[in-house]
Amino acid sequence: MEPVIVIGAGLAGSEAAWQLAQRGIPVELREMKPEKMTPAHHTPWFGELVCSNSLRSDQLENAVGLLKEELRRMGSLILSCADEHRVEAGGALAVDRHGFAQAITEKIRSHPLITVVEGEVEHLPAEGQVIVASGPLTSDTLAEDIKGFFPESHYLNFFDAAAPLVTFESVDMESAFFASRYDKGTPDYINCPLTAEEYEAFWTELCAAQEAEVHGFEDKNVFEGCMPVEVMARRGHDTLCYGPLKPRGLKDPKTGKEPFAVVQLRKDNADGTIYNLVGFQTHLKWPEQKRVFSMIPALKNAEFLRYGVMHRNTYLDSPRLLDRYYRVKKDPRICFAGQITGVEGYVESTASGFLAALELSRRLRGLPPVDFPQETATGALALYISNETVTDFQPMNVNFGIIPPLGYKVKGKRNKNAELSKRALEKLAELDTE
Ligand SMILES: Cc1cc2nc3c(=O)[nH]c(=O)nc-3n(C[C@H](O)[C@H](O)[C@H](O)COP(=O)(O)OP(=O)(O)OC[C@H]3O[C@@H](n4cnc5c(N)ncnc54)[C@H](O)[C@@H]3O)c2cc1C
Repeated sequence: MEPVIVIGAGLAGSEAAWQLAQRGIPVELREMKPEKMTPAHHTPWFGELVCSNSLRSDQLENAVGLLKEELRRMGSLILSCADEHRVEAGGALAVDRHGFAQAITEKIRSHPLITVVEGEVEHLPAEGQVIVASGPLTSDTLAEDIKGFFPESHYLNFFDAAAPLVTFESVDMESAFFASRYDKGTPDYINCPLTAEEYEAFWTELCAAQEAEVHGFEDKNVFEGCMPVEVMARRGHDTLCYGPLKPRGLKDPKTGKEPFAVVQLRKDNADGTIYNLVGFQTHLKWPEQKRVFSMIPALKNAEFLRYGVMHRNTYLDSPRLLDRYYRVKKDPRICFAGQITGVEGYVESTASGFLAALELSRRLRGLPPVDFPQETATGALALYISNETVTDFQPMNVNFGIIPPLGYKVKGKRNKNAELSKRALEKLAELDTE
């Protein structure tokens, strides 16, 4: 059998290659790293996380928690590597980013049916079955080629930002304290408190700090879920105190009270030697990041291992171009998967890679496709992406709003969500996902 060509060994491409190979389909996985790097990728590993090391909530009362559980039950490579390389992060699934990516790389490279071919793909292959999973930072040449492939439509884009990383030993623990919000779970976060005066000075400087040039960027073009901290700050004096600097449920042991504002740091590696600034995606100039973020008392001597960056993030107008299996409607030989389809986030990208590969492997084995019902998170996401009635298409995180309601009343949002998840997992159990 001719191998399926998978372009890009990120989260979607690695998952897709693995699922195909596990079902006996040979794969040629084409990845341009390390020869050519996108502006946000830094390592030769597959499945590299370009920003936060968190795959978000791991609880079934949350839609992304449900999506993870569905993927686990279906044998996802990305989820099994994430579980294996988990670092403590309260109710979230956060990972040691290097251990996680290395595990994915080893699994992929040692699979007998996967051949890795290094180098940039410049054109959509003219023959064979293809899954394009080249991500939001698809190389320019390939992006141009994809644009040409869809002359009837056009690419859409928005801007995405990454947060900085600091070393643990440079955080002043005299000014900071370990705790989790409302003391739930283990005290995994480092909390850096600010008084009202310290916040005032920090907020003023943050709003006025110099931004790096990003061509075509305006505040309105940001994705709300990954908004640069300086853009959020400019929305109002206290906006940050309701967002990433929210002090609720975080009592400073020194005073016994909630501080005026709190910056949280989350472990970025299993050793706990590196922490990221939670919610501090930014596109300030690097010296400005050092100057302004060092105004947070616990970070006054912080050593920045990596500064935040901002990039254009490109995706297709999928409702007009793709079907529920992420196949190109006009040419089902080609599928897209991952962030380029307009699913937003690590887990969502993984889910689309899984579904695209499952369908393609079944087609190649002469089996009918699996129609994931909308009650499942996997199905709801795919149906949203391919829903032609969605006109102003925007990148979409999985959420319970795209899953049909229960049809009966359940008291309390958490209980209702738990019930939605229960229903989803029951529906999933009825499917043949081989
Ligand atoms: C700056 C930034 C910050 C982000 N922060 C977060 C976050 O905190 N949390 C979150 O959930 N999501 C975040 N995202 C979204 C994130 O990109 C996706 O969630 C996820 O990485 C997408 O997975 P993917 O497999 O589609 O793409 P990627 O993981 O980017 O993988 C694509 C792969 O394709 C390769 N490639 C590209 N072009 C070619 C080519 N021509 N030939 C061969 N290989 C090619 C790349 O090198 C890469 O390895 C962020 C995105 C950006 C750009």
